[in-house]
Amino acid sequence: MRSESNPLLAEGGLPQFHEIRPEHVEPGVRHLLKDLEAALESLEAASLASYVEIIGPLERLQDRLSFVWGTVGHLMGVRNSDALREAHDRVQADVVAFGLRVGQSRILYEALLALRESTGFEDLSDAQKRIVHSLLQEARHAGVALEGDARERFNVIAQEMAQLSTDFSNHVLDATRSFSLILSEPRQMEGTPSSLRELAAQSAREAGEQGATAEAGPWRLTLDAPSLMPYLEHGPDRAIREQLYRAHVSKASSGELDNSPLIDRILALRREMAQLLGYSTYAELSLASKMAPDVSEVESLLEELRRVSYPAAVDDLEAIRTFARESSDASLQDIRPWDVPFYAERVREARFAYSEEDLRPYFPLPRVLEGLFGLAHRLFGVRIEQADGEAAIWHKDVRFFRVRDQDGTPIAAFYLDPYTRPGEKRGGAWMDECVGRSRRLAEPNGDVRRPVAYLICNQTPPVEDQPALMSFSEVETLFHEFGHGLQHMLTEVDESLASGIRNIEWDAVELPSQFMENWCIDRDTLNRISGHVESGETLPAELEQKLRAARNYRAGSAMLRQLEFALTDLALHGDFLPGEQRTPFDVRREVAEGTSVLPPLPEDRFLCAFGHIFAGGYAAGYYSYKWAEVLSADAFGAFEEAGLDEEDQVCAMGRRFRETVLAQGGGRSPMDVFREFRGRGPQPEALLRQSDLLPESPSGASEV
Ligand SMILES: [Zn+2]
Repeated sequence: MRSESNPLLAEGGLPQFHEIRPEHVEPGVRHLLKDLEAALESLEAASLASYVEIIGPLERLQDRLSFVWGTVGHLMGVRNSDALREAHDRVQADVVAFGLRVGQSRILYEALLALRESTGFEDLSDAQKRIVHSLLQEARHAGVALEGDARERFNVIAQEMAQLSTDFSNHVLDATRSFSLILSEPRQMEGTPSSLRELAAQSAREAGEQGATAEAGPWRLTLDAPSLMPYLEHGPDRAIREQLYRAHVSKASSGELDNSPLIDRILALRREMAQLLGYSTYAELSLASKMAPDVSEVESLLEELRRVSYPAAVDDLEAIRTFARESSDASLQDIRPWDVPFYAERVREARFAYSEEDLRPYFPLPRVLEGLFGLAHRLFGVRIEQADGEAAIWHKDVRFFRVRDQDGTPIAAFYLDPYTRPGEKRGGAWMDECVGRSRRLAEPNGDVRRPVAYLICNQTPPVEDQPALMSFSEVETLFHEFGHGLQHMLTEVDESLASGIRNIEWDAVELPSQFMENWCIDRDTLNRISGHVESGETLPAELEQKLRAARNYRAGSAMLRQLEFALTDLALHGDFLPGEQRTPFDVRREVAEGTSVLPPLPEDRFLCAFGHIFAGGYAAGYYSYKWAEVLSADAFGAFEEAGLDEEDQVCAMGRRFRETVLAQGGGRSPMDVFREFRGRGPQPEALLRQSDLLPESPSGASEV
């Protein structure tokens, strides 16, 4: 197929969703890669002295690749089919290989090095300098600067690491699959949610119990989260909970699927890799490209949070212990780990007697959108208008909106794909870029190219002629993704490699998204986004209070758990020497002394299933969850301090947030941007206050 007849390769404007078919993917991507290979070769052969000579062509190349491949990836997420998946799989390896070739180009690396040393470098803008620094660092971390034996060794390690992480996650998958429990007594399932009973009956049928039904069983429980968690929370049979729990914490820790030797090997190789690149530990290597300045700074933040959340978690445990003793039979001597989720849920039910379903009628999607756009206008001075029909879409439920400045100047646009579509749409919610802002990649009329975002949610679809009614967590998710979208759309950075969410450090990207979530429980915002589908009445104060209280239920326990993961991760990737007297499990146990209110079981090997750090991108980076939460809570804290009902203050603060966090994107260091917004560096008090974890007596805080 010639490229001009392939709608996937159409240039300028937005993707031609109404014309793109799976059969366009393979020829389109192959054609594109050929063009880009040629472009890369001529780039490498050209004289590369100035910023524009290097970055101009590189940016065009990256942009073309991310537009076409981004469209394919987008369709994989929202319009999946066997044909599309096969086409995607046939070209994926080549796309990845091309990306690596660009990132590891020695010629580009040397040209960038020379540029950084040249006299002209100081005249570049901050964003341009940051782009040069990031590209150099990425290339260095990919091993470009290594010579001879070191380079060879680095490549061998990289290969082995890829294999190890694949093996690690396969072991976890296989170990999960190899365990199951069949229950056939109805009393063992009493009180469990109907969704669990249906899932477990279906699982039983798949395992050969043809007659299994949700009502009468038999039911098959597995270690998959959608099966495990509901049973631990609601399963009435204590012995079954114990069996499930013990199997869960010792998953992939014995026999053929034992991940412990892999953990030792991964940690040793990571350390060696870091040292080849000039760092003393893997944690240092990881932190080099993040917002957090260094390991000790992260550790002291985590310690500060730990000191406050530990006593709160002790109280949480005491509360469920009391509840269990009062309500249950005498045989329950003490709370064991497999009782915690169960009684935590019973206490939750007793304290906050409402269900997500009670809230839905108050949150019809059109009302929520109106309120959300109203908030965006109030805070950031932008107008959001529906523009359905002005862009091709991939499904009839997809909406299209334009974002304008106060004076009507167009700024950006976004698609919203709100509802779940099992079978063709991936679960979860996400924001992605369709087109990024760029000055050099201008529109045909010479205007700066304006950003366009995808906002994808998976909320409950409308039933009959009623509008879609949202659960409160669906509302929070929409706000979250809209926050990412704002950073992409309201960027004022002209350099496409640093505009919007590009070039933002991993531990800072969740700032605007979590910041927006905070508005969901603001009184004024709730009044704007809620309106009963029949009466139009806003959310009653009584429900609002329960909502707010339930949000912080067991906040100390939840935080402590995240801290345990983050501290273990840092300790293993820090000074710990694999192969010494202590094992990774000893390290984990030492961390647990300060982070577990119930000590782990002797057979606890949760590290063997800790895929985030051994098979995912979170190695020496698990702390990012908490780091970004501190930033977002502290940013919202600025509004609280100014007074959430002081209209002028809120508007002024909102404009400042827009001009700093949202406008400057990856063009400046996120710490500088945060300081400009907040007038100081980030502090954890706001997060603790918003989670009801701030110690009341001043003595608790004075040690900090
Ligand atoms: Zn997010």
